[in-house]
Amino acid sequence: AKSWHFNKRPKNMIESDTFVLKELPIPPLKDGEFLFKTIYLSLDATNRVWLSDWDIYMEPVHIGDPMRGFVFGQIIESRNPNFPVGRYAAGLHTWSDHIITNGDSFDLFPVLDGLDLAETFAILSVAGPTAHVGLHEIGGLKENETVVVSGAAGAVGTIVGQIAKIRGCRVIGIAGSDEKCAMIVNEFGYDAAINYKTEDVTEALGKLCPDGIDLCFENVGGDILDASLTHMKDFGRVVICGLISSYNSSEPVPGPYMFRNLIMRRLTVRGFVILDHADIMPDVLKELASWVANGKLKMPTHIVDGLEAAPNALNLLYTGGNTGKLLVKI
Ligand code: NDP
Repeated sequence: AKSWHFNKRPKNMIESDTFVLKELPIPPLKDGEFLFKTIYLSLDATNRVWLSDWDIYMEPVHIGDPMRGFVFGQIIESRNPNFPVGRYAAGLHTWSDHIITNGDSFDLFPVLDGLDLAETFAILSVAGPTAHVGLHEIGGLKENETVVVSGAAGAVGTIVGQIAKIRGCRVIGIAGSDEKCAMIVNEFGYDAAINYKTEDVTEALGKLCPDGIDLCFENVGGDILDASLTHMKDFGRVVICGLISSYNSSEPVPGPYMFRNLIMRRLTVRGFVILDHADIMPDVLKELASWVANGKLKMPTHIVDGLEAAPNALNLLYTGGNTGKLLVKI
């Protein structure tokens, strides 16, 4: 089996020596184990965080370890009755083409009518649950609110916008190109979009949200978070889902300039990590699957070919080279 191992801590972006590819023989299965053939590897913004020397929300990936990632695939041999041969499964494991596991961090995965495997995995594995839990559990989303989401054309972002529209909200997305802005408005139902590379986001939000923002779903941080903080309504809520603009920094980054609005606008700011919400996941997945079935929820996928391509492809998340969910087809 081939798998990528963490070799050298990067200073900024992933470099050619950050990982090394190793090939090891696949040992015979023990009782309780199964052999999983990876079909898709999910590349997630947080992968870069796991490689840092920060004090983070879970065990980091240590130098020498196999690289960790969310994988989707098929069970091809099994000595575990809960994971029969032929079934699809997904779990948090390693960047490998074949995996032997007892299934601890794996779940069987449904095949949804009318959706291909990539889109099913893209919606149900991380992005869909993160968007759903972030909006409802953390953000307390209500009907008819004004919602602003950054990283709006990415995996989490496209789902946030669609769910907020399902809830009858007015949704403004912030993204990094005219093509992405056109896509989220025309294909994903956003009411408006701001290209942060060509527009003054603070000024644009002021025009688009004259009565203020009820809920800011933050995926980026930095100046973009400041722009939203400037225009929050009194008692507005800010969901800190991600701060991708700082994930490649080896140095600490400055906090928001408009921090004072936490007092002036009496804001609630709450961060969260989706892994803490396993208890409500069955209901969340059921609702996401029902929206998919009704044609209300979809996800663009950006698929890169081959395990070998994974390290370079990860950088696409930090340059904006991906639209929608970034996957590697193994
Ligand atoms: P995306 O598919 O959204 O890809 C990342 C996008 O972020 C890029 O395409 C790029 O789009 C944008 N971006 C990157 N760098 C910058 C920058 N410096 N300034 C502005 N925009 C930038 O990735 P994910 O869906 O995997 O992740 C989105 C966010 O959600 C991340 O912050 C991630 O950490 C967070 N997340 C949090 C979870 C949680 O449990 N809290 C779980 C899963 C994800 P553009 O072209 O628009 O610049």
